[in-house]
Amino acid sequence: MDGSVRLDEVVMRFGDFTAIDKTTLEIGSGEFFSFLGPSGCGKTTLLNIISGFLVPSEGQVFIGGEPVAGVPVNRRPTAMIFQNLALFPLMTVFENIEFGLEVRGVDKRKRREVSERLLSLVALEGSGSKKVTELSGGQKQRIAIARALAVEPRVLLLDEPLSALDLKLRQHMRAELKAIQRKTGITFIYITHDQGEALTMSDRVAVMSAGRIQQVAEPRTLYRSPKTGFVAAFVGENNRIETRVIDRDGACVRLDGGALGQLAGRAGEGSTLANGEATALFVRPEYLRPVSEADACPKFAVTIEAVHFEGAWVMLETRLDASGELLRVQLGTELSRRHVEELVPGKSVWFGYDPEDAVVLPDDGGPVVDEAT
Ligand code: ATP
Repeated sequence: MDGSVRLDEVVMRFGDFTAIDKTTLEIGSGEFFSFLGPSGCGKTTLLNIISGFLVPSEGQVFIGGEPVAGVPVNRRPTAMIFQNLALFPLMTVFENIEFGLEVRGVDKRKRREVSERLLSLVALEGSGSKKVTELSGGQKQRIAIARALAVEPRVLLLDEPLSALDLKLRQHMRAELKAIQRKTGITFIYITHDQGEALTMSDRVAVMSAGRIQQVAEPRTLYRSPKTGFVAAFVGENNRIETRVIDRDGACVRLDGGALGQLAGRAGEGSTLANGEATALFVRPEYLRPVSEADACPKFAVTIEAVHFEGAWVMLETRLDASGELLRVQLGTELSRRHVEELVPGKSVWFGYDPEDAVVLPDDGGPVVDEAT
């Protein structure tokens, strides 16, 4: 059962507005693949193109290696789970799950067999006769999954299906969804603006901004080696510092930080970075650590403005003494306890980092603001 999906130079225009710029992408059969991006970047549009709700202005879609142009929604090997789940509230759980099969003329005994099996897959055995209104949010979520799986799709499309749940349940359902995907081996294409969801569940993630895919990579690669300033700022937290290249030795780049003095970082994958080029240095708050002025590592002199105790860590808001810009620093509780005297508002301290942990990317014109946000 080939559940691969290929987009070949797909473009979507609404009048003069280009919602999806020319996009080519391959999603493997059995992959848990996410589209991650801010509101309005085109995630739902892409999903609708795959499901057949929208016909692309240009380009081709292939599912299981076959072109699907002209194939209507109900004849594609896809099923979709919407944000609001769209369950039938007055029907029982059985009736909801079996609906798609009944429409297809599957007989009652076979239908019940399928729904019993799916109820067990989503860990809701014995609740088939309940009304949907009797279920909790998490249970409804699982019934929506069971209903989508009943028609045996090769590809399951999920449009922010966890956004209506509270935080604890959402985190629990992430693990459940991932487990169901593993058990069934079906391709899951998941869209979300929540990076935590995308990073924890996905085999690969495509980060989107304003109708374009910025980077497609495994979660750890995305976090560790962002290819663009947008990805660096959107996935996780990052401090962005304007610099200029002094010189480069392989991946290691020496940087002129202006008033901040000499800095260093690792060249972003595939970036050319010529000597003298304006660049942005990205250092995550958790990669900074207290150092002394005598330490040889690249470092910043800052004044602490605020200290936020977050339980497992402490987040410091500091200002760079040389430029007045904000630098956020995250310290594990252990480290912050050792330095408890110095880490209070008003104190001047040094924070350093390992150049391996900071990424240098071509100047992207400043802090990223997506068009739609
Ligand atoms: P959200 O997370 O808010 O759902 P999204 O990333 O899914 O956002 P889309 O719904 O795909 O974004 O929309 C992408 C862009 O295309 C938006 O600017 C939207 O206004 C526009 N758009 C979507 N559908 C249409 C349409 N039918 N006609 C005109 N513009 C549209």
